Amino acid sequence: MKSLVGLPTDELRRTLTDAGVPEKAAPMRVRQLWNWIYVHGACDFATMSNLAKDFRTLLADSLSLARPEVVTEQISTDGTRKWLLRGEGGAEFETVFIPETGRGTLCVSSQVGCTLTCRFCHTGTQRLVRNLSAGEIAGQVMVARDALGDWPSTGESRRVTNVVLMGMGEPLYNFENVKTAIAIMADGDGLALSKRRITLSTAGVVPMIKRAGEEIGSSLAISLHAVRDEIRDAIVPLNKKYPLSELLASCRAYPGISNARRITFEYVMLKGVNDSLADARELVRLMRGIPAKINLIPFNPWPGAPYQCSEWEQIEKFAEIVNRAGYASPVRTPRGRDIMAACGQLKSETVKQRASERMAELRSVELARMPG
Ligand code: SAH
Repeated sequence: MKSLVGLPTDELRRTLTDAGVPEKAAPMRVRQLWNWIYVHGACDFATMSNLAKDFRTLLADSLSLARPEVVTEQISTDGTRKWLLRGEGGAEFETVFIPETGRGTLCVSSQVGCTLTCRFCHTGTQRLVRNLSAGEIAGQVMVARDALGDWPSTGESRRVTNVVLMGMGEPLYNFENVKTAIAIMADGDGLALSKRRITLSTAGVVPMIKRAGEEIGSSLAISLHAVRDEIRDAIVPLNKKYPLSELLASCRAYPGISNARRITFEYVMLKGVNDSLADARELVRLMRGIPAKINLIPFNPWPGAPYQCSEWEQIEKFAEIVNRAGYASPVRTPRGRDIMAACGQLKSETVKQRASERMAELRSVELARMPG
């Protein structure tokens, strides 16, 4: 059954009229359902008390409110929670909730697997299986709200206050679905998070950065990680396509940035690779003219990773150079490492089957179904 979760308003409207809702009533029905689904987190049409019973039955006959299914939940000693979720067709992906004082950040995935193969990233070792749908992306916030008892979305003391698209995948390679999902998250009568509290992180898909600024309008983070093309080519292979000069030019041109709305540059600290003090000085030089915050991320290890985290002292010296040049450069405290929930540690078992494998599986299912 088709789920209403994640449909943009025009498609929701069409879906309702297809199900038999009269054209004239459709706009009001869209508003009512939208509010039930995203503000109240309704999982069942039956709970929609201001809708006539006949109408609820009509909806339930052909439509659902399904969102991703929770496969497992893990809770770190530091309170971080990670959910393994299962989407349409069985694909699995992860979402992480990071509670802090005064706020709670949900780290959301945009794809199952990833195409980018960044050398230091665990997700990069999982080939792309598929893009997540808008419902599966926005649905991660809904699943978190379910698990945390965090409805209604407009409540005073919400636990999920911020969303970062820093889970599995490259959001700018799944542009339309990410755009729809963020619109739902940012809608005041939807999941009700302001656009400033939603951060889209990209490894640098340059042609899409401008579009993201114009059409999505969330906060932006760039996974920079190196200040010289030779090094960035090696650790973020996408750099060979869109080198540093082009990436930084697109940041300078990002619509709507100002000192009050800065771009975050993420920089993973890899021992002996990108952490020299000369690198820190070059970073400062590159940032000139860009309203920027720099987020230094201690490298999080994973099985078989070819790198080590920089020494703590080195991270501090590096941060000091960046700070002295006037850039806020907090060092990101690793969260949820014990449950493999920290930056760059996410991965699921889902693999893309080859067409031949899928066919073989289908055939065996069919054979099993045949009367003996
Ligand atoms: N593809 C997007 C979204 C993923 S964000 C992007 O690259 O921005 C995930 C962030 O965690 C990125 O900044 C990524 O570079 C960083 N990261 C990946 N592996 C890491 C690791 N092992 N330790 C610390 N940070 C890592």
